[in-house]
Amino acid sequence: MHILIIYTGGTIGMKEDPATGQLRPFDFTQIEEEVPELKKSGFEMSTISFDPIDSSDIRPDFWVRIAETVRDNYPHYDGFVVLHGTDTMAYSASMLSFMFENLQKPVIFTGSQLPIGSLRTDGKENLITALQIAAARREGDKPMAPEVCIYFDSKLLRGNRTTKFSAEHFNAFNSFNYPPLAESGIHLRFNQALINEASGEDEKFAVHTDLNTDTGVLKIFPGMNQSTVNSVLRSQGLRSVIIETFGSGNAPTFPWFIDAIADAVKRGIIILNISQCKRGCVDPDKYVTGSMLKELGVVPGNDLTFEAGLTKLFYLQGKYLDNNEVVTRINTSIRGEIST
Ligand code: ASP
Repeated sequence: MHILIIYTGGTIGMKEDPATGQLRPFDFTQIEEEVPELKKSGFEMSTISFDPIDSSDIRPDFWVRIAETVRDNYPHYDGFVVLHGTDTMAYSASMLSFMFENLQKPVIFTGSQLPIGSLRTDGKENLITALQIAAARREGDKPMAPEVCIYFDSKLLRGNRTTKFSAEHFNAFNSFNYPPLAESGIHLRFNQALINEASGEDEKFAVHTDLNTDTGVLKIFPGMNQSTVNSVLRSQGLRSVIIETFGSGNAPTFPWFIDAIADAVKRGIIILNISQCKRGCVDPDKYVTGSMLKELGVVPGNDLTFEAGLTKLFYLQGKYLDNNEVVTRINTSIRGEIST
């Protein structure tokens, strides 16, 4: 068993500089010095280290770089662990899940809230268990979790269902609308029925690197004014806008708001409705304030996370020039990101 660790940055790869007390990235190729327990793992591992970034600086070209690193090394490894800052890990895991088609090997993202070089770090457990998950096999020597996942604080979550919800607790991620794929306690227990089956051997693994990020975001709030709304909906070059709505997908019924949305739809802009609530889904038929949006041509995002909705648009817009092609796929599950 051979696992590739791809180190991209974030808190996990930091150590305190004894002189200044500041956190600095350390040379991750020396990881076994920091985590000597890794020697007991019983499988081989190799490391590729990027110039580490804080994940708040993530950009689409960085996603392409991670995806290409997996693609170029795919035949030589049984699984991949991507070490990534926690701030945007849910965006990156969602994006990569769409970029990888017919993935047959685990790609497990992890990171930590405290640097691996600090005494109380959560990074060691996260790293060691993420590696074990990447290496875990079931009958027929098939990988247990051939998906893009996030492993954090004892839970394995589907990447494109995950959101970072705590800036402070070790338990920082949750997948509010989909149960954990595995939980680690004394035993590492996989919930096989929830894990995507790897596609057949003859379906070729493909990596899509054309992303189109011409998407805007409009968060609905009481007191928002017309010019703010128009400045988003009328931004130059937009193909789509996510409106972050209340509750089960509701928005105000003021005439100026309705007109602004109707006008954007008429101009061919995709408007995707995602709820500000983390658990539950957009149900446009529940209230007039939600059904009105559907009647205007707004696409209900069901139980997509914001991160998955955004990155799914980036992927679909990169793949299809015609917005109708994008719209017909938003509510269809491509990688298990949405309940249908
Ligand atoms: N700002 C850091 C990052 O996302 C936080 C972390 O790694 O936990 O890169």
